[in-house]
Amino acid sequence: MSDANCIFCRIIAGEIPSNTIYEDDTFKVILDASPASKGHALILPKKHCADIYEIDEEVAAGAMRLAKKLACHMTEVLSCDGFNILQNNHEVAGQTVFHFHMHLIPRYQNAKNNDILMWSHETFTDEEMAQIRDSLKYE
Ligand code: 5GP
Ligand code: ZN
Repeated sequence: MSDANCIFCRIIAGEIPSNTIYEDDTFKVILDASPASKGHALILPKKHCADIYEIDEEVAAGAMRLAKKLACHMTEVLSCDGFNILQNNHEVAGQTVFHFHMHLIPRYQNAKNNDILMWSHETFTDEEMAQIRDSLKYE
């Protein structure tokens, strides 16, 4: 349920203070301590799970429902110009805290760091794309 070595479990338990903007039986939503923008928040499921591979499907669905509501609420309050919802899994993908969380990142037209989520692009041949598509078909 909770992992004593997990910083987010300790925040959820109230052992470590946080700036909480929302809480219910399933989730706590806190401001990121090292924000990418004004209002950057994190949706934390209260039950410990490491990542997208471990999270219960219903909890994952609830996290996205909450993200939708909070994106609308935060955009209204902050008058931001756009919004990213981001979720990292495993170190290679940028995950640094191994308790599932969803980033809510308000974006502002005139921010100095508007390249925070830009990535360079890879290219694949048509044959490679077809092979990738076929290997990924899911029913
Ligand atoms: P990740 O890189 O795992 O997707 O995101 C982890 C996020 O948690 C980072 O944006 C980081 O700033 C934030 N974070 C790490 N430790 C703490 C903490 O103790 N309190 C809060 N509020 N945020 C934290
Ligand atoms: Zn945890």
